[in-house]
Amino acid sequence: MTGMMIKELGKSFGARTVLQGIDLEVRAGEWLGILGPNGSGKSTLLHMLSGVETPDRGGIELEGRPLAGYSRRELARLLAVLPQDALPPLGFTVREIVEMGRYPYQNWLGDEKEDRSALVERILSWLKLEELQERTVDALSGGERQRVALGRALAQEPKLLLLDEPTTFLDIGYQLEMLERIDRWKEECGMTVVSVLHDLNLASMFCDRLLLLHEGRIRGIGTPEEVLQPEGLEQVYGTRPYVLPHPDGGVPQILLGREGWRR
Ligand code: ADP
Ligand code: MG
Repeated sequence: MTGMMIKELGKSFGARTVLQGIDLEVRAGEWLGILGPNGSGKSTLLHMLSGVETPDRGGIELEGRPLAGYSRRELARLLAVLPQDALPPLGFTVREIVEMGRYPYQNWLGDEKEDRSALVERILSWLKLEELQERTVDALSGGERQRVALGRALAQEPKLLLLDEPTTFLDIGYQLEMLERIDRWKEECGMTVVSVLHDLNLASMFCDRLLLLHEGRIRGIGTPEEVLQPEGLEQVYGTRPYVLPHPDGGVPQILLGREGWRR
């Protein structure tokens, strides 16, 4: 596991400033959730953490070195990304796509110093992909494809996993299962996780800390209890929710209300 230091980060597209003054430490071993309304800059922030986008202002350090100084290959051994529109390449089988996660460790012949085929087997069984392994991704459902994309990311053996709304197209059962699997893998393999999550309740249940973005700025950072406050959420989302303790263990959970409504 590994952390990141983010200082005074800013990004503009043309005349439009999308992120500004982002000061943040990603702590080794934590799960940090990024929240905020549509268009608040969540994906842009994640793109910069993964090195896909370069910041216009400020800097990012990974293991004490500027992110921009890493080669693609070095970076792929440290961090893996599951983008918002994670579509594994079509025409390949599930197993082949998970094996692609090993590219950063292979020479040009596709050989590795160590035999890591056991890791690929473990991931296939971990994500319940064994039965699908010879199918091409074209023939999978959205949720299955998402699991394959996660499998490839885990095969990179990342110290830091970056996820952009990994549960968007999943039903509640699969949402929970996906996040549980990430959490267990994180604990067993010692990963740091940074994820954009649009579901505040799931974020509260899985994340150690939450970052709330609004119009490109940090509006709150801290534990779920600190960040999920009715006043702050109303300012950011334009609706005042109820915040109640979860019956199992008390983490804050959001319940929406309707003005003047009672049944
Ligand atoms: P979020 O993920 O929180 O919904 P994004 O980070 O995707 O938000 O986008 C933040 C803002 O930046 C949006 O207004 C979006 O339209 C704009 N934006 C994102 N990427 C680009 C781009 N490549 N070019 C121009 N504008 C962009
Ligand atoms: Mg986004």
